[in-house]
Amino acid sequence: MRAEIVSMTADRLDEEAIARAGEILKQGGLVAFPTETVYGLGGNALDPEASKKIYAAKGRPSDNPLIVHIADMESLERLVTEVPEKARILAEKFWPGPLTMIFPKTEVVPFETTGGLDSVAVRFPSDSIAQAMIRAAGGYVAAPSANTSGRPSPTTAQHVEEDLGDAIDMIIDGGPVGIGLESTIVDFTEDVPVVLRPGYISLEMLKETLGEVRMDKGLISPDSSIRPKAPGMKYRHYAPKADLAIVEGETDAVVEAVNGFAAAADERGEQVGIIAAEETVSRYPKGIVKCIGSREEEETIAHNLYEVLREFDQCQVSEIYSEAFYTPKMGQAIMNRLLKAAGHKIISVQEEKEKC
Ligand code: AMP
Ligand code: MG
Repeated sequence: MRAEIVSMTADRLDEEAIARAGEILKQGGLVAFPTETVYGLGGNALDPEASKKIYAAKGRPSDNPLIVHIADMESLERLVTEVPEKARILAEKFWPGPLTMIFPKTEVVPFETTGGLDSVAVRFPSDSIAQAMIRAAGGYVAAPSANTSGRPSPTTAQHVEEDLGDAIDMIIDGGPVGIGLESTIVDFTEDVPVVLRPGYISLEMLKETLGEVRMDKGLISPDSSIRPKAPGMKYRHYAPKADLAIVEGETDAVVEAVNGFAAAADERGEQVGIIAAEETVSRYPKGIVKCIGSREEEETIAHNLYEVLREFDQCQVSEIYSEAFYTPKMGQAIMNRLLKAAGHKIISVQEEKEKC
């Protein structure tokens, strides 16, 4: 099977194609679609067979639950046993938008969709193509990111086609996504809301709205014995084919260290890949250097991250070195993804110097 590809824009929907996508989903098929975060791989969330197909298409471990996408608030009530007041406040403020919330599930939601858990993750996306498709499908679309498991999430329809073109029924091409990183996930199954995955909506924004909000301990110390609560966060993920390391420390020291690695590779007749910010990109004379965006406009870094990681799969590089991007607002989300892509390999330039 080769996926049918249909193109449209958020302000000019192709109603006929949306209706067809809805029909495919109702019949248990799979449709990839754009959202404001990344492209999703949709299946009917209330159909256990459709969820199984999603896992099979992605090669995703079946204990890694799917997010159920809805297109109105009423749909939430059918999926969950209770909506705490704080979740209602967040929904009011950030939905539709890049926020996923986790609640105790009702019987309507099959365990195949939740990876066997008693809770369900729900998101109301703001993208109008996504909303129209969810409505056409009957209101409940389970959708993980539309990439092969382990690869960087797709931010264009071409990325989806590369990974899943032979495994699904339809791809809706709505152009490049806006944000480029997956949604923030907040768990409401405990007393205090807990962030299970950082995203565009930062911990600070959540705290401003709710007061006390915690970060999942398994996220803050990912190498320790504490496991992240979101099953998906424990996997190496977003990874390019070549090994990636993050080089952190004072800017001049980072540039010098990376140039040292590039020169050493050059002597071996190899090339390194380098991921750099616009502010420093011209300071790397050797290797294949890719500009990820500007530290002054951190949204550009988030937006380009997965594209850059994918681009390196087309290049002959022995290894990839990336600068660190602890930017003020999205830094937590960017570094969470980058660290996972690097399998948490960090080269701290200061530390290296102290050891000498
Ligand atoms: P993706 O679908 O690729 O955006 O990944 C969805 C993320 O949500 C994964 O990290 C899942 O483990 C997490 N997730 C989904 N449902 C739940 C749940 N009920 N409890 C905890 N984490 C969840
Ligand atoms: Mg994913």
